[in-house]
Amino acid sequence: MRLIRDEALDSGNARIGTRFWIYPQPPFIPGYEQPDRVWLSIPRDEIGEGPSDLSMYVADPLYDKQPYGLARLPPFDGAKRAPVRPGPDRHFDNIDPTSRPFLAVHAYACVRFVLDIWQSYLGQRVHWFFDQTFPRLEIVPFVDWDNAQAGYGFLELGRSDVDGILRPYALNFDTIAHEVGHLVMLSETGIPTVTSPDGDFFSFSEAFSDCVSLISFLHFDSAIDRLLRRTRGNLLLYNELNRFAETSPETQIRLATNFRRMSAVTREVHDRALPFVGAIFDSIVALYHRDLVANGCADRRLLDVDLRELAQDEFDTFRQATAEAFSTKPLYFKLALTAARDAVGAALATALKTLDPNTLRLEEAANAVTAAAQGPAAELLEENFAWREITASR
Ligand SMILES: [Zn+2]
Repeated sequence: MRLIRDEALDSGNARIGTRFWIYPQPPFIPGYEQPDRVWLSIPRDEIGEGPSDLSMYVADPLYDKQPYGLARLPPFDGAKRAPVRPGPDRHFDNIDPTSRPFLAVHAYACVRFVLDIWQSYLGQRVHWFFDQTFPRLEIVPFVDWDNAQAGYGFLELGRSDVDGILRPYALNFDTIAHEVGHLVMLSETGIPTVTSPDGDFFSFSEAFSDCVSLISFLHFDSAIDRLLRRTRGNLLLYNELNRFAETSPETQIRLATNFRRMSAVTREVHDRALPFVGAIFDSIVALYHRDLVANGCADRRLLDVDLRELAQDEFDTFRQATAEAFSTKPLYFKLALTAARDAVGAALATALKTLDPNTLRLEEAANAVTAAAQGPAAELLEENFAWREITASR
């Protein structure tokens, strides 16, 4: 009797998701040496060895592989490493995080984790923009190449090389989330068929992907806890949020907290993306402050001053008030940050559906995000896009 009941329980549990390990930041970052155990929404009976499922699969080359390009597309048809199998309980958290097979499992888990978040914001499944040709995304966890890229049917990960120290991007959540951001955006807006010389499609694509990386990172409970504890609730401090993709696949270190306005950037796509990413980050922080003030956790004057131009003594006053409130009411800080994250994340995702990739300008994208925002997020986004000179100020 006991046995039958347990089996019944277990077949029900097979539908509640699958366990994996993910490093919220690469393990060489101090404080992030240990991975988090996460539950992905995909049921265990829908994941096969590889890992693989109905919308993606890992192909791990046994020997080195040339990166994909215009003339070279998936599927990878060379010799592959043996597909990674789950444990006897069909979860994937039995793989040693220091082993070579872990790269495949970690890359897959990161892609799924990010997709779970953005499908939630979109309110629907993402249908890959390449699904007429390739039904599934191919994830290549390791290529001997100093880059990472997502393209038509694939996401492939090389390794960084900093002073001769090689680090696989398969362990770099920021990098993978950024690449998934490109895939999500292209799948929602479609691929541009004409490129206009003054179009911003590629700049917006970089901005959106950096926002995906930032907002997805804020979905790790452990990361939010660590961030808030370390800063004692004060997000105006230098912290994990702006230490983005340390070893950026596109060779630039992109900062979410930056003071760049459109009048101070070049036409280079990553540079031109910075004010947009900054506006999104500032809006999350402003919403967070609003919520803290409403709950008596921060000085009301925080809402009235320009935080980018704070004098040191003002900054110290705010910091002290926040730290005192944080020591007694940390839960409110966490709730405020997750609510701010989701309000801005949902607006970004919803805006994608209204954008025309052929004529896209950053101004239009900013207006679409503001229009898609609910409640106080709309006003704060509008203010921040205007401060960045992405939209005209009123
Ligand atoms: Zn990119």
